Amino acid sequence: MSLLDEIQSENGKPRHDCIVCFCINDLSTEDAADLVACLADPSYTATSIARVLTARGYPVNPEGKQVRRHRKMCV
Ligand SMILES: [Zn+2]
Repeated sequence: MSLLDEIQSENGKPRHDCIVCFCINDLSTEDAADLVACLADPSYTATSIARVLTARGYPVNPEGKQVRRHRKMCV
């Protein structure tokens, strides 16, 4: 992470403590785009998104708490 990224992260949305934002940054460009699209579409439940992220090895609560918080706080 560059210094600029770090400053923007401190300055902006709470990306540093949001696991969903971490996933978006960490996934490949294609997967991140799909994740962002699913997060923006309420027909995809927080639980289903969380389960997929858990299966990918991210420390996401499978109940979807962080996904719901991301949808409220980070958009
Ligand atoms: Zn987030």
